[in-house]
Amino acid sequence: MSRTIIVSNRLPTKVIRTEDDLTFQPSEGGLATGLGSVYRTGGNLWIGWPGLFVGDAVEEAYIDTALAADHMAPVFLTEGEIRDFYEGFSNSTLWPTFHYFSEFATYEQAHWDAYVAVNEKFCAAVLEHAGPDDTIWVHDYQLLLLPELLRRARPEATIGFFLHIPFPSQELIRVLPWRAELLRGMLGADLIGFHTYGYMRHFLSAVTHVLGLPAQNGQIETPTRSVRVDAFPMGIDYERFAQAATAEATLAHVAEYREALRDTRVILSIDRLDYTKGIAQRLRAFNLLLERYPEWRGQVSLIMLVVPSRDQVAQYAALKEEIDELVGRINAQYRTMSWNPILYFYRSLPLEELAALYHLAEVALVTPMRDGMNLVAKEYVASRTDQRGVLILSERAGAARELSDALLVNPTDLHQLTETMHDALVMPEAEQLARISAMQELVRRYNVFAWTRLFMNQLTYTKMKQQTLA
Ligand code: UDP
Repeated sequence: MSRTIIVSNRLPTKVIRTEDDLTFQPSEGGLATGLGSVYRTGGNLWIGWPGLFVGDAVEEAYIDTALAADHMAPVFLTEGEIRDFYEGFSNSTLWPTFHYFSEFATYEQAHWDAYVAVNEKFCAAVLEHAGPDDTIWVHDYQLLLLPELLRRARPEATIGFFLHIPFPSQELIRVLPWRAELLRGMLGADLIGFHTYGYMRHFLSAVTHVLGLPAQNGQIETPTRSVRVDAFPMGIDYERFAQAATAEATLAHVAEYREALRDTRVILSIDRLDYTKGIAQRLRAFNLLLERYPEWRGQVSLIMLVVPSRDQVAQYAALKEEIDELVGRINAQYRTMSWNPILYFYRSLPLEELAALYHLAEVALVTPMRDGMNLVAKEYVASRTDQRGVLILSERAGAARELSDALLVNPTDLHQLTETMHDALVMPEAEQLARISAMQELVRRYNVFAWTRLFMNQLTYTKMKQQTLA
């Protein structure tokens, strides 16, 4: 029977070292959340890094066995690889470049060399586990070279690739010294998926400009094969969030938080710590709201959850300081004995507490500078089982292409952000209901299971067509 092998940098489980033990925990982030409900079915397998340095053969074997029982196979990285491949090329070159933050990008030959070596390491791991009839689905920007490496080893293999972050204008891609190698790496796949048509168009244009290959109607002709490119906006597990919204544990948290908040209205902001998320701009806009509309003082609080992330990369540490300082300043200026303007949490929360926050929030403020998709926006929509609530969404999040009933904003426009927050707080219930139910319809239908099905069907079809034409 043909299986699906999912390959991504991170496994959906991370291994954590405690004082004298290793523990297993689900990882944060869109991909782990999204595909989590998929890989355990039908003998499928997920290959990836377990999220820590091990370096001891006995421990590696222990982790290997424990993960195998749960349909996972680990790829272990050395400390040098974690630094140069992961923190280096992936998070300090590709991440900023693909999110239009080229000024943060570094271009280190040693990081590139590690990137090549780790992609080769992943290739070896996949070849060890995948049978000739298996479908290989490679994920995200850490593994851009993997499709081509696999193609060279297995010319007939069925290979899909999905990019979870934006694909930027070719002007940004051209800045990368290794632009041609990266594009060729992706072209090893039979099907390349993006969240939006915009990203897909940027990719086709980069392939034409950088590699000089003809690209039309979502089809790229390489000298040996044709490659299909398409948009597949990723969804969420809708029912999981809809059910969590009214679960007993959630309602217990809601009651507890409500008691502490009394009748203060809640604007909610949830992100990983990242400069792409527009967290500081959002704080400035909230500050401006309190300045311009004194009537909201004492009435509205911003609950801001920031999930720790990549704190080994310099810009992230600096951003953390900037946020701490802004929150401190705004709170110091406006707080009263009975009201806090910003309730700031720097940690990650379990589902029922997250669901309680989605439940309490009359307004969700999702304003990234750039975001491949943004699942938090969709989770908020799914959680609003009373069909009230307002989503303020950045027009530069992939989700904005689908969630056109959100209040769409330009996240750099502080004036617009501020006015939109005010509009959201005074929006009539009938309008909230109309907007939320339209978005719920869409988020429910194009959930993560539909996303997987659409991608896998298209991959099967693309392969079939290739074989008929050959
Ligand atoms: N999330 C989580 N724990 C938290 C806060 C958030 O697991 O304490 C999840 C959230 O539910 C969402 C994901 O993290 O599924 C964030 O995905 P998104 O696409 O918004 O951003 P990313 O982190 O992938 O850039």
